[in-house]
Amino acid sequence: MTQITLALSKGRIFEETLPLLAAAGITPSESPESSRKLIIGTNRPEVRLIIVRASDVPTYVQHGAADLGIAGKDVLLEHGGDGLYQPVDLNIAKCRMMVATPVGFDYEGAVRRGARLRVATKYVQTARLHFAAKGVHVDLIKLYGSMELAPLVGLADVIVDLVSTGGTLKANNLVAVEEICPISSRLVVNQAALKLKHGEIQPIIDAFRAASGV
Ligand code: ATP
Ligand code: MG
Repeated sequence: MTQITLALSKGRIFEETLPLLAAAGITPSESPESSRKLIIGTNRPEVRLIIVRASDVPTYVQHGAADLGIAGKDVLLEHGGDGLYQPVDLNIAKCRMMVATPVGFDYEGAVRRGARLRVATKYVQTARLHFAAKGVHVDLIKLYGSMELAPLVGLADVIVDLVSTGGTLKANNLVAVEEICPISSRLVVNQAALKLKHGEIQPIIDAFRAASGV
């Protein structure tokens, strides 16, 4: 029996992946929200799920510790995608990568004047590329969460973060001023595994593609 391992993160990606798994005939035997197990079996004896941090999914798949995984485009942009085949945009966990500033900050003016901007973000590669393409000089400040706080306490002028409803920005008197790119989650596949286990992996890719409507 050829074992197939799929890497997922808890929370919204797991929840939104359940219907796609169902379409591939895969039902997890436990929920990672209630179980503390990091390896979760399924109704299909050859298929197992591993539960990892969202930003670690590409690493597990790249090294072949998982054959497939589901990762946000935000995470893939930071990782670089080396060694990963990305066959399907699953259209789940959708949001936008945005530049946000305190309400009243003249972002356009600062860009026009060629001001140097202090940018706080978890997404330093994405921010670096975005501002380089605009010809804006930036000091990047790496954070691991709660980016909204940075401009409020003088750590940064602007932030680069994911925005869905804008509720968190609004609650902190911030406003989105520029979209960097739309974000959704992608199926990622280890390239060697796709060749070696093609008969097992290709039907999963096909079922996910059909179920995600793309
Ligand atoms: P951790 O919570 O372990 O630090 P994380 O914050 O990246 O990791 P999640 O919040 O579950 O984990 O986000 C997982 C993925 O979901 C992100 O990589 C992104 O692609 C997507 N995502 C994040 N925030 C939103 C949002 N507000 N709306 C829709 N999708 C989102
Ligand atoms: Mg989170």
